[in-house]
Amino acid sequence: MTRDEIVSLIERGGEALLAEADAARKHHCGDAVHLRGIVEFSSVCSRNCAYCGLRKNNLALRRYTMDEDDILRVVAEAERQGVRTIVLQSGESEAYRPQWLARIIAAIKKRFDLAVTLCVGVKPLVCYRMWRQAGADRYLIKHETANPALYEKLHPDSHLDQRLDALERLRMLGYQIGLGNIIGLPGQTASDLADDILLARDRDVDMAAFGPFVPHPGTPLASCPPGDIEISLRVVAVARLLLGAVHIPATTAFDAIAPDGRERALQAGANVIMADLTPLHYRNLYQIYPSDRAANSVARVKAILARLDRPLATDQGHSLKQRTEATPCGAHPRA
Ligand code: SF4
Repeated sequence: MTRDEIVSLIERGGEALLAEADAARKHHCGDAVHLRGIVEFSSVCSRNCAYCGLRKNNLALRRYTMDEDDILRVVAEAERQGVRTIVLQSGESEAYRPQWLARIIAAIKKRFDLAVTLCVGVKPLVCYRMWRQAGADRYLIKHETANPALYEKLHPDSHLDQRLDALERLRMLGYQIGLGNIIGLPGQTASDLADDILLARDRDVDMAAFGPFVPHPGTPLASCPPGDIEISLRVVAVARLLLGAVHIPATTAFDAIAPDGRERALQAGANVIMADLTPLHYRNLYQIYPSDRAANSVARVKAILARLDRPLATDQGHSLKQRTEATPCGAHPRA
C-alpha cells in the first residue's frame, strides 16, 4: 500500500475496508481476544502534554501512588478473573524509585502466571534493564503523532526522537515493544495518520495502539472536538491490513466517543481489549481524558465479547512475530 493509498482509505474507506480488516484480523490473530488488565499505579506526572488530564499543570487533580501491597492485591484478583497480562501504567515522574517498581515486577512474576507490560514513559537505560531483569515482558511508548512539528507543539517538554530511540533500546533488551498514536489531534491530517501507521510498520513493533482524541476540560485542548469515530475505525482497519501479525487494541478511548466504540473497533481489525483494574477511589483520579471509569471492568469486557461471539484468549498473548537473535523477543512463546 502506498502512502497515498493509505491516505485515501483513511479519508474515504467504507464498510468493505472494515470487513477486509476484520478478515485479516481473523487470519493473523484468530477470533480470541486478549484481555490486558491495567493498573494505573501512580498519577503523578512531571510533563505537560497538551491533551492529557494528568499534565503537571492540572492542579485540580489530586495525585496518588499506590503502595506495593495494594498493587499485588489487585493483581491477585485480576488473575482470578481470567486476566493473563498486567499493564503497570503511570505518569512520567520520579514519584517512585525504579528499584521499587522492579520489586513489584519480580513479585508478580514469582507469584502469578502473568505477562507484565510497562507503560511508564521514557526512562534511563538502567531502569529498562533493571525492569527487564526483574521479569517485565513488554513496554509501550506511545509516540502520539509521527509528525515532528505537531509533536513539538503538543509536548513542550519532550521530543519525538527521544521516544523512538527509547523504543529501540527496549527492543535490544528483549522487550516486546509497542507504540501508539492519538487520532483527531488539532492540526493533524490524514497524511499524519498514514505516517503513524507507516512508523509502526517501519519500527516492526509487536503492538500498535490507535485511539481517538478525547478532550479533557483541564487542558489547553479543552474546547477542541473529539476524534471522529469513522476515521478512527478506518485507521485501525488500515493498520491491520498493513501491519498483519501485530497486536492492535480496541482502545478504551473508543468508548469515550461512541457507546459501542470498542465493539466496532474489534470488528475493524482490533484483537486486544483492556479492563481497568485500578481501585475505584484511585481510578477516578487517573483522568487522562474524561470517561466512565467505573464501567471499564472485566465483566464489561466479557459482556462485549459475548455480544460479538468472540472468546477470551486463555494464553498470555505474547508477540505474534517470530523473533531472531537480532531482535531477541524470541524468548517468548508465540501466542
Ligand atoms: Fe504525563 Fe503521559 Fe499525560 Fe504526558 S501523556 S502528561 S507524560 S501522563
